[in-house]
Amino acid sequence: MLEHDVLVIGAGLAGMRAAIAAQAGGANTAIISKVHPVRSHSNAAQGGINAALTDRGDDWEEHAYDTIKGSDFLGDQDAIEIMCQAAGDSLIDLEHMGVTFNRDDEGKLGTRAFGGQRRARTFFVGDFTGQAMLHVMFEQLVKSGIRSYEEWFVTSLIQDGEQVAGVLALEIRTGQLHAIRAKTVIFCTGGCGRLFEPSTNALIVTGDGMGLAYNAGARLMDMEMVQYHPTTLAGSGVLISEAARGEGAFLRDRNGDRFMEKYAPNMMELASRDVVSRAEQTEIDAGNGVDGCLFLDCTHLGEALILEKLSQIREIGIDLAGADMIKEPIPIRPGMHYIMGGIKTDIDGLTNVPGIYAAGECANVSVHGGNRLGANSLLDTIVFGERSGNHAASASRDMDFIEFNEDEAVRKEEARIQAMLDRPDNGDRWGSIRQALGDTMNKNIAVYRNQAGMEETLRLIPELKARYAQVPVHNKGRVFNTDLVFALELGYMLDCGEAIAVSALERKESRGAQARTDFPTRDDENWLKHITVTRGEEGPELGYLPVTITKWTPEERKY
Ligand SMILES: Cc1cc2nc3c(=O)[nH]c(=O)nc-3n(C[C@H](O)[C@H](O)[C@H](O)COP(=O)(O)OP(=O)(O)OC[C@H]3O[C@@H](n4cnc5c(N)ncnc54)[C@H](O)[C@@H]3O)c2cc1C
Repeated sequence: MLEHDVLVIGAGLAGMRAAIAAQAGGANTAIISKVHPVRSHSNAAQGGINAALTDRGDDWEEHAYDTIKGSDFLGDQDAIEIMCQAAGDSLIDLEHMGVTFNRDDEGKLGTRAFGGQRRARTFFVGDFTGQAMLHVMFEQLVKSGIRSYEEWFVTSLIQDGEQVAGVLALEIRTGQLHAIRAKTVIFCTGGCGRLFEPSTNALIVTGDGMGLAYNAGARLMDMEMVQYHPTTLAGSGVLISEAARGEGAFLRDRNGDRFMEKYAPNMMELASRDVVSRAEQTEIDAGNGVDGCLFLDCTHLGEALILEKLSQIREIGIDLAGADMIKEPIPIRPGMHYIMGGIKTDIDGLTNVPGIYAAGECANVSVHGGNRLGANSLLDTIVFGERSGNHAASASRDMDFIEFNEDEAVRKEEARIQAMLDRPDNGDRWGSIRQALGDTMNKNIAVYRNQAGMEETLRLIPELKARYAQVPVHNKGRVFNTDLVFALELGYMLDCGEAIAVSALERKESRGAQARTDFPTRDDENWLKHITVTRGEEGPELGYLPVTITKWTPEERKY
């Protein structure tokens, strides 16, 4: 029987950081990932990672304040304090591990400005920061000798009552199912971006961990808080990093005007993302765009800067929109990018289900609240990945493995999957259900929302779930059956979509990424609280948790 004290699900930055910490803490640790670790979505992060370094005259409390204001005061301030205080050491750790951050002319670590922050405190490697970090982290993973189950897909958790006992996973290469016993499981499975279409996220970002944890009794929190990024490319929806605006790019309407003057006269293009996306959507709706898009203008930055610091996004513009940002503005619009919500954890990654931890984008330790600041997510993965790995390692020392019948567990899961494979072809396709989900989410739970739209989505999701229960899987084979894997992912996506829609309908105010045309103002009296969703007998059940406020009193938000 495969057996580990700490089993980390997901090998993006959060997962690898957690696994390295747990192994260093003396636990027998393994990591499991449905793709090769360096293909995780963390690899796509472009812009950078935030840290307030004191020798730069910066201060973690300023970073914390910017983060709290960015969150529209929904972030838990105790967690934000921890993240911002840890940021400097975490950054230097990364540097020492081998991440070759850009340096300035004096040879010091270079910074760029990012949205919603009064200081330039974003450290970066060109416009491929995530890739640089992920590859270095992978080297550390290999060096530490951690067992890595690559291209294994977790299909279910094994529980004894509530307590987690292990997981069931499909080895994609062979089609074989395995049970892995574990004292503790850390979910680091990333976000659920692809349940919106289009999205900046990789196709693998399907909310599996949120779905698995939800079905195991975990609470999801702030699921209504879905971030639309202001600059996604026309057509494909691929991300054009905020780094462009950080380096000084302008946003222009069809007449060439910098419309942000009307919305954020001080911070302009570098107001926080929810503010800029709303401004863009308002302009597009007013007919001030071209083909549903506005323009990102980098032409004044000069060829040398673009080639040194923004070369990848320039190539994306050329390849996917036929526009070279050195020579012309490129067409952009707001697009789904990130989920602030996720599996509710405490500051050590613990969830309400014994033995289950979570960190990274799938988790919600509540450092992003209603709106995440750019470059705070990589920081979140590193800081809370490490903390959950440390905690799980020390907790597992005092725990025993929970016995379960391996053969029976595997046989039951095999029967469930075989039943999916045995379904008759009724003409339906999982791809069309996935597209319908993506369309309805992007139509009704986007930059602006209202009751009628959200109710439409909530009527459609049960229909999609009913279709999903019958949908055929055409490939009946064992080896690399991605048809089966995609079909399994869709189940998690539908659960996440429902959790997002019920939470958004419940929050009757506008705060952060939740902008309701029918409730256009923030209402601290009634809604300065988190909304949680748990799985009940009849479907999602809502609950509330207070927001932790340490020393920053909620105030009106202006940029
Ligand atoms: C295009 C893009 C650019 C970004 N740029 C920035 C940036 O510049 N700065 C910033 O701070 N943030 C950025 N972000 C956000 C940030 O990159 C992510 O939030 C973060 O990297 C998520 O890391 P993670 O470790 O939580 O998850 P991921 O890196 O998404 O990893 C998830 C892991 O879970 C595994 N997994 C999932 N489901 C299963 C399953 N069922 N079985 C087994 N394994 C599973 C996957 O294989 C993968 O290894 C960006 C995001 C995108 C999409």
